[in-house]
Amino acid sequence: MIKVSELNFSYEENVPVIKNVNFEIKKGSYTTIIGHNGSGKSTIAKLLIGLLEKASGSIEIGGFELTEENLTKIRSMVGVVFQNPDNQFIGSTVADDIAFGLENQQVPTNDMQEIIERYAQKVNMSEFLDKEPTKLSGGQKQRVAIAGVLAMDLDIIILDEATSMLDPQGKEEINALVDELHEKSNLTIISITHDMEEVLKSDHVVVLDAGEVKMSGSPKEILNRSEELIELQLDIPFIYKMQSELENVGIKIEKQLDIEGVVSELCQ
Ligand code: ADP
Repeated sequence: MIKVSELNFSYEENVPVIKNVNFEIKKGSYTTIIGHNGSGKSTIAKLLIGLLEKASGSIEIGGFELTEENLTKIRSMVGVVFQNPDNQFIGSTVADDIAFGLENQQVPTNDMQEIIERYAQKVNMSEFLDKEPTKLSGGQKQRVAIAGVLAMDLDIIILDEATSMLDPQGKEEINALVDELHEKSNLTIISITHDMEEVLKSDHVVVLDAGEVKMSGSPKEILNRSEELIELQLDIPFIYKMQSELENVGIKIEKQLDIEGVVSELCQ
């Protein structure tokens, strides 16, 4: 679905920010791009939807090379939610904001209202549809931005620290919604984060450091390289550490890598 080859990019001359990056993302997969601040994650998100010029190398999405000519086609497949929702607000009401992408897709007006209400409800923002987006809290703005992108029924969604302003419960709600859409509609998800816990539920993990891909593989392959992760200042998720410790004393947890799963297996 996505193939990035030998991608290089600099904002300023002679200061490379993305260095010979290669990775592939399969259709319907959940990929996490992880790395500490400044490693180039957001720059990759911007490059993937053609927001930055003068990159070298190639990006292919859904069989189309990312070029000026194919930009409209690619943006009809890929949506992105950035960390700072203020950059994405343009409407005078929350409903207008959710509608923005749908209007670009020329969704018939009759269908639009129903879609807006459905997605506002999914992100718990139904009561705010006629409110001014600028008056919302950061977390509420993030919910609206997520609703707007999910409502477009795209093939690929890039979430760039998209729930960073939500409290833990809010994060959980939005993550559950994204997981549901990922499973039900075979949505391809690229989640950009520095939250190592997210790695556990991914199909594929790309670890970036100083603009380079340091590791790429399944969560298990990545987490097994704990010393390298620590060197990259990435924490090993608590649950994974606990599982490894248990395995060391002969208790093997076969099932999922979540705290409830481990606790329930231990209680059996
Ligand atoms: P991350 O998302 O991993 O925190 P970014 O992609 O935002 O990293 O940034 C990667 C590098 O590019 C950093 O060194 C950052 O300072 C630099 N950078 C980001 N945006 C710009 C910009 N608009 N102009 C110049 N340098 C930038």
